[in-house]
Amino acid sequence: MTGEWVLVSPHRTKRPWQGKVEKLPETGQPKYDPSCYLCPTNKRMGGDKNPDYTKPFSFVNDFSALLSDVKKEHYKEGLLYAESESGICKVICFSPNHSLTLPVMSEIEITDVISIWQKEYKELGALGDINHVQIFENKGDVMGCSNPHPHGQIWAQRIIPQETEKKSVRMKDYRDRYGRSILEDYVAQELKLDERIILENEHFVALVPYWAVWPYETMIVPKRCISNIMELSVEEKQAFAQVIKTTTIRLDNIFETSFPYSAGIHQAPTDGQEHSEWHFHMSFYPPLLRSATVRKFMVGYEMFADPQRDITAEQAANTLKGLSSEHYSKLNNTSL
Ligand SMILES: [Zn+2]
Repeated sequence: MTGEWVLVSPHRTKRPWQGKVEKLPETGQPKYDPSCYLCPTNKRMGGDKNPDYTKPFSFVNDFSALLSDVKKEHYKEGLLYAESESGICKVICFSPNHSLTLPVMSEIEITDVISIWQKEYKELGALGDINHVQIFENKGDVMGCSNPHPHGQIWAQRIIPQETEKKSVRMKDYRDRYGRSILEDYVAQELKLDERIILENEHFVALVPYWAVWPYETMIVPKRCISNIMELSVEEKQAFAQVIKTTTIRLDNIFETSFPYSAGIHQAPTDGQEHSEWHFHMSFYPPLLRSATVRKFMVGYEMFADPQRDITAEQAANTLKGLSSEHYSKLNNTSL
């Protein structure tokens, strides 16, 4: 979807590991943490107090990377070029319960999270100066998320970011050439091959993409070509919640740990144009490779040349496919 290559070298996992070992995430979080700036009724770092919320709750990030009141300016001098950028950054608390994560939330609770994603995509996307809405979640210390309270973020902005733009170009090219969605055809081929499918329900498929870069990279795709999350029917929304829950349970079950990841939804830009080429999907980029404490680093060759993966997409899919859909904490009867 981006036209880029990945180097696959599965023999590399045989090398002895003397590199960095991560700390295990803390287990047994309380339902309420008086020192957490995301828990209901607590004071945030910016000074505002959270309401006593009971469902997913969103607010403007106290330390937004993008600001809405930015003057449009250009700078060009010789080879140097810059443009001002405006936008809005929001934080979404998935639940008032500090101890939860998506895999241990109920499908109804995850459906509520999807509802707030839809509300934000619609409201932010309707603003004149917002042409792209990026919904994402960084989970775990390893991914730079220091607060275990279940939460995600939204960065909405004027310029369409490069990753979305690359996919837009490819999706449009395929749609123009064949009159179909590239992901619809891709999913049909994957279902037929059944080599990288992790699970499916009536409306969604979870698979390790053929071009996966991260060891257990996973993509959730609707079977029907839906350009953005506003187009989900009631049944599709429930099916999306179900597949998010089961996929994240499987990730947690690999090393029986709360699996860190960066997850995000790629969908049509909100630039007022028709985007029938867009087929929305959610990707999980989890860094763990060998164990709960040994992660994959994207350094050296990856920084200078191309991304490289250490296990094949088929090996990763096989592992994920073979795992239970019950969370390990329930199977082992341990508390998180
Ligand atoms: Zn909290």
